[in-house]
Amino acid sequence: MMKIVCLNCGRPYPETGVPYQCPTCGGLYDVEPLTSDLQPSTLNQLVSLGEGNTPLISAKAFRREVYFKCEYANPTGSFKDRGTATLSSFLLSRGVTEAIEDSSGNAGASFAAYAARAGIKARVYVPESASGPKRQQIEMYGAEVIPVPGPRSNAAEAVRKAAQAGMVYASHAYLPFNLPGYATCAYEIVEQLGGAPGAVVLPAGQGGLLLGMARGFRALMRAGKIDKMPVILGVQASACAPLAALFSMGITGLNFVTEGATLAEGVRVRTPLRAKAIVEITRESGGRFTSVDEAFILSGRDALARLGFYVEPTSALVWRAMEETLPELPNPVVAVLTGSGYKFAAKKD
Ligand SMILES: [Zn+2]
Repeated sequence: MMKIVCLNCGRPYPETGVPYQCPTCGGLYDVEPLTSDLQPSTLNQLVSLGEGNTPLISAKAFRREVYFKCEYANPTGSFKDRGTATLSSFLLSRGVTEAIEDSSGNAGASFAAYAARAGIKARVYVPESASGPKRQQIEMYGAEVIPVPGPRSNAAEAVRKAAQAGMVYASHAYLPFNLPGYATCAYEIVEQLGGAPGAVVLPAGQGGLLLGMARGFRALMRAGKIDKMPVILGVQASACAPLAALFSMGITGLNFVTEGATLAEGVRVRTPLRAKAIVEITRESGGRFTSVDEAFILSGRDALARLGFYVEPTSALVWRAMEETLPELPNPVVAVLTGSGYKFAAKKD
């Protein structure tokens, strides 16, 4: 097994059970940086629906040739499947037969699908107001959906209560087991390009994909497979951009972060749990964060569709971000298209 430690007190992850926080101090668990690789031989069984091996397609963006990593082509329509494959494999290795989650988005849909595949009974707490294709998708995979009245934080509270009562909380945010899954996206890009990209542009909410991929590139560098880290450009929605604030203004920046409504619902995360590690590794890459105003999200989605890429609004953040930052990014530039356009119900006006 990869080495997992509490970031707060340094104690290792227990040999049994699936606590989502350190039982001793309440700290957050993370993968020991130098052992970030997943060794499949240490898992009893790899739960898979054929995630990964997604296309890398070049196309013209703002007069530059750019590569698009089509993560929407994963089994449930988003990059989350890479992380859910490793997370659900871990759950099986611990003998888990029933687990809960609190996402009404891509993570919830992915969790429901892989739980179905693994024979794990899934229960997903969602805000009562959540509707649309993602909730339908969660239900279709056979997960039990528990609607919780009130804001999103009420659903989070309900899931924490259930976890305290002994349920396994398969949190995609707290548990670190998805991060080695995301590293495989970096490995594939290097394989497909025949070398390291100059820069990687990707949306960041909790920032798990950014962190997992950046660690993947770093692991390849340490192994002598590539010469340098690609410049990482993390993209947020201006309505809710804590990583951008933390990066440019330090800890005081967080005082000015809003949690406004945004079409980019996948990155609407006010307090990313791994913000410190994410900001550090982005800085180490020579990259930074940027944020995109609401007015540019749908036009970005439309521009990508005109190139043949049908993505949800969250993924479209990369288009406007590239318009503003391409001149500073070294070739080859890879933009990660995280989720499918089928996931987004267009509002009629
Ligand atoms: Zn601890």
